[in-house]
Amino acid sequence: MAKSDIEISQEAELKDIREVAKTLGLTEDELELYGKYKAKIDYHIGENRLKNGGKKGKLILCTAINPTPAGEGKTTTTVGVGDALSKLGKKVVIALREPSLGPVFGVKGGAAGGGYAQVGPMEDINLHFTGDFHAIGAANNLLAAMLDNHIYQGNALDIDTRRIIWRRCVDMNDRQLRNIVNGLGGKAQGVPREDGFDITVASEIMAIFCLASDIDDLKARLARIIVAYSRKGEPVTAGQLHAEGAMAALLKDALNPNLVQTLEGTPAFVHGGPFANIAHGCNSVIATKTALSFGDYVITEAGFGADLGAEKFLDIKCRMAGLRPDAVIIVATIRALKYNGGVPKDETTKENLDALEKGVPNLLKHVENISKVYKLPCVVALNRFVSDTDAEIELVTKKCKELGINVTLSEVWGKGGEGGIETAKEVIRLCEEESNENFEFSYEVDKPLKEKIETIAKRIYGAGNVTYSKAASDELANLEKLGFGNVPICVAKTQYSLSDDAKLLGRPEGFTVNIRQVTFSAGAGFVVAIAGDIMKMPGLPKVPAAEKIDVTSEGMITGLF
Ligand code: ADP
Ligand code: MG
Repeated sequence: MAKSDIEISQEAELKDIREVAKTLGLTEDELELYGKYKAKIDYHIGENRLKNGGKKGKLILCTAINPTPAGEGKTTTTVGVGDALSKLGKKVVIALREPSLGPVFGVKGGAAGGGYAQVGPMEDINLHFTGDFHAIGAANNLLAAMLDNHIYQGNALDIDTRRIIWRRCVDMNDRQLRNIVNGLGGKAQGVPREDGFDITVASEIMAIFCLASDIDDLKARLARIIVAYSRKGEPVTAGQLHAEGAMAALLKDALNPNLVQTLEGTPAFVHGGPFANIAHGCNSVIATKTALSFGDYVITEAGFGADLGAEKFLDIKCRMAGLRPDAVIIVATIRALKYNGGVPKDETTKENLDALEKGVPNLLKHVENISKVYKLPCVVALNRFVSDTDAEIELVTKKCKELGINVTLSEVWGKGGEGGIETAKEVIRLCEEESNENFEFSYEVDKPLKEKIETIAKRIYGAGNVTYSKAASDELANLEKLGFGNVPICVAKTQYSLSDDAKLLGRPEGFTVNIRQVTFSAGAGFVVAIAGDIMKMPGLPKVPAAEKIDVTSEGMITGLF
């Protein structure tokens, strides 16, 4: 039987993190050590290197087709192709998101990669790591406490307690906390009201943390957060509660990127991890830029499929941070393509060429988006599973070749960096021979909000039109009126389909996207357009992954995957 991710990780011998840092030219003095295998580095180091004309590496984005619920291997591919680039003699730095405890204990499991393509120590990275998420939770909850205290102490800002937006958060899948009533118990105990918790990765603080360029920008963004509306209908901000300074103080250390390594010793910054629906789903701008100041090649991942993750990486993160990727890897799996061709999830391991052929257009749409809309060089990495047959691999390769797209077989899960050489070589070729000069965003940011939403829906998803609920339409008009119209859009929709209907698989066309609700993340700096139901606090499944996780008397963690 194949070894589990945690078994492989625990058998691997990690280098002292000071040695890994040394390969980047970092001295021990520049490291804030968190034990033997983890360190934070002051973000000013990367910033100064870039400012002083230091090198800026090639930026490679790893994204994917529309996934199945198990994940299709973006993190695994990012790590493995990073290791392969290292093997080819390139100076590589990987930039990944930090895992959330929600999925770790819920359905999906950890997010440190898989098989022989992982970052380690995976138990630490998947559990408390260096405490960043706890700091983010604390900053979120400080703001909640200051908000309720303001109301309790007389409510000088005249906050309408029925229009409080800010919620509390905890990094756990805990549906019990989704909707609560608090402040009960009488006059001295607070003001009773309806409230609720979100999972920490869905907090706007997480999105802000990941988009901030430095402490000053962080503070300015925190101050802009809209926490509630007054009884006159005016926005009330965290700045009006004088909360941004203390929140930034809580986040000061967290803001420094975390350095770890892959099982093959390639350096990796694992930092920040916003949801890819309600937020933009990429690691921090600070970590990406720090990585770019050290590596010749920086490879990073964006959450979910390319319609959500890559779209937001490109249209939000790259726009705000002034980044421009040099090449894009689109991860596809045969099982997800069969799923997109209509095969139920539990039958995707059986050979089925008909279904595969029906599912391939999903991949082709994502390829077209990257190459024709964003005008970036791209390669398809077929993440190989044991169940894939030669005939199936041949079919996908042929279909893509017909359209002039190179498909490389990625076997990093089973073989580590060695299994990613083919993809890595194509990445190098794309960086050296093809151009990203014509890179364009999918929409212009100074257009009206509705026009931007429609452009994303039509160009990226393939929709025919967009409809809005009355509430959504009113809020969009209200935001334009308040002068908030000039920001990017963050669409929250299902990751399973290019449309907003999880059951519409493959490459649907001409469908209607229905925007049900609109919210404004003023600190993050984007308008969230919500299509369908969106869960900001997930629940645990019937048999949560947590039931299998344990720790031995010697303190060794087992059962993480
Ligand atoms: P994503 O980043 O796209 O969500 P991950 O890289 O986290 O996906 O992979 C999800 C899970 O699938 C992990 O547990 C990983 O070990 C497993 N996995 C990835 N690639 C393979 C493969 N080729 N064969 C078997 N399991 C794989
Ligand atoms: Mg991932």
